Amino acid sequence: MADKTWSLLLDAELFTPISSPGFASSWQSRLFSPGAMVFDENGIIAVGEQAAIEEKWPRSQAAQVISAAGRLVTPGFVDCHTHPVFHNLRAHEFTMRIQGATYVDISKAGGGIRYSVRDLQQASEEQLLHVLLPRLDRFIANGTTTIEAKSGYGLSVEAELKSLRVLQRAAEQHPVDIVPTFLGAHEVPDAYRGRRQAYLDLVIEEMLPRVVEEGLATFIDVFCEDHVFTAAESRAVLEAGQKAGLAAKIHADQLHDNGGAAVAADVGAVSADHLEHTPEHMDSRLLAAQVVPVMLPGADFFLSSPIYGPARRMIEAGLPVALATDFNPGTCMSESMPMMLTLAGLQMRMTPEETLIAATLHSAMAISAHDRVGSLENGKQADFVIWDARSPAELPYHFGVQLVQSVYKKGRLAFQASAARQRT
Ligand SMILES: [Zn+2]
Repeated sequence: MADKTWSLLLDAELFTPISSPGFASSWQSRLFSPGAMVFDENGIIAVGEQAAIEEKWPRSQAAQVISAAGRLVTPGFVDCHTHPVFHNLRAHEFTMRIQGATYVDISKAGGGIRYSVRDLQQASEEQLLHVLLPRLDRFIANGTTTIEAKSGYGLSVEAELKSLRVLQRAAEQHPVDIVPTFLGAHEVPDAYRGRRQAYLDLVIEEMLPRVVEEGLATFIDVFCEDHVFTAAESRAVLEAGQKAGLAAKIHADQLHDNGGAAVAADVGAVSADHLEHTPEHMDSRLLAAQVVPVMLPGADFFLSSPIYGPARRMIEAGLPVALATDFNPGTCMSESMPMMLTLAGLQMRMTPEETLIAATLHSAMAISAHDRVGSLENGKQADFVIWDARSPAELPYHFGVQLVQSVYKKGRLAFQASAARQRT
C-alpha cells in the first residue's frame, strides 16, 4: 500500500478556471459540486467530481482529509500589480482628496509618490521589512497567495536596491509568493527635477545593472503618463530592461491616452496595466502581441474616477483580461482582491465567474506564472481558499467583509479565520 503522503479535500463547491493552450482565453471554468481535490506539497494530483475522485483516492488512505462542508473553494488569488514597499501611510492625503484635491494637485504640493520617496529613503531595511510583513498577512487573509511586487519609492540606486532586497527577505519568511518588479522609473525624484534624461540614464545605466547582477527582479516596469515619462522614454526603459534579461510591464493610459498601450505592444510586454484611456483600435494590437491587459478598478474607485478600464470591450476582443489591486499608499490602500471583484462586477460589468478567472488564471498570465498557479489543475501548486460562501457570485455580492475561512499555500494551511467566523 502506498504511503500516506497525500491530502484529500472533500465536500467543496470547487471552482477553477480551465487553462487553454495559447494566449487568448476562452474564459472557461468548471464548478465541481460536490468537488474534491488530491494534493501534496509538490502540487495538485487530481481534481474533479467527488465520487470519481474518491473511487481512485479513498479517504482511508489519505494523510489528511479536509472537509469544506459545502463551501466554495477557489484557487488563491494572484494579485499581479502591487506596490507594497513603502514606509508610512498617507492617510493625511485622503482628507485632502475628500476636500477636492486631485492626484496632480497633491503631487505638485510635494505629496503623493514624492512623499513616499523621501520617507522610504530615510527608513532602514529592517523598518521596511517590519511594515511589509503585516501587509503580506493582510494579502493572505483576503485570499491572495501570490503577488507581484514593485519597487519604485526609492528612486536612488541604494533605495531601489533596498526596496528589492526587502522583498527578497520577506519572500524568504512569508508563505505568500512574491514576484519582484524593478520600477525605478516610477517618478522623477526631486533632485532631478528638470533633468529627466539624467534620471533616466541613472535608471538604465546604474540601477538596472545592479538589480540584474543581484538577481533582485523578474520584471521591469515604467510609469508612462503625461506628468511622468513619455511613451518614447518608457520604451527606452523597457527595452533596456529586456536587453538585460527582465520581462516588461507598463503603467499605461491611466489618466490620458499617451501611447502607453502601443509601447506595450511594440516591445512585447507581458502585461499593460490600467488602460482606462486606451483607444479601441489598440485591442487587436495587444492581442497580436500577446499582452495581458490588467484592470485596476480599486485605483479608479479610490480616485473617484467615473472612468474604469474597458474590461467588457477587451473581453469581447478576445483578450485575457486580468484583475489586480494596485495596492499602494496613494491611490489604492487595499490588499483585498474580493473588493476588486465587486468593483469589476458593478463598474466594469464583469460576471462573477469572469472576475474570478481574471483574478486567478489571467493574473497569473500577467506575471508569466500560469504554469504553476492561477487554477486548480493537475501539476499546479495547491494554493486554494475555502470561503464562507456557497457560490462564486457570493464573493463580489457580499462585499466589504471578510469571507475567507482558510487559505492553503503549497498544500499547507497558511491562514485560518477566527473560531467566531468559522461558525458561520
Ligand atoms: Zn501601479
